[in-house]
Amino acid sequence: MGAPSRFRCPICARESGRRPENRAFPFCSPQCKLVDLDRWLEGSYRVAGDPVEPSSMMEPEALRGEEYPRRSDKPKGDE
Ligand SMILES: [Zn+2]
Repeated sequence: MGAPSRFRCPICARESGRRPENRAFPFCSPQCKLVDLDRWLEGSYRVAGDPVEPSSMMEPEALRGEEYPRRSDKPKGDE
């Protein structure tokens, strides 16, 4: 077995002991585990707030349509 039994904490990059005692594995400590959970939750919230962006981008277009209505802009006697 040449594979190293070491594992690095994804939060602080510290070596986390791979033993049954470490309940926070693969994190080095319960604190880092909380940090990861916090980050994960933040990401979830961010995704939920994403749909707001396209909505705000459509505002200028809607305003533009009011300023320049296509119906009046198009000549009816073109035919
Ligand atoms: Zn850590």
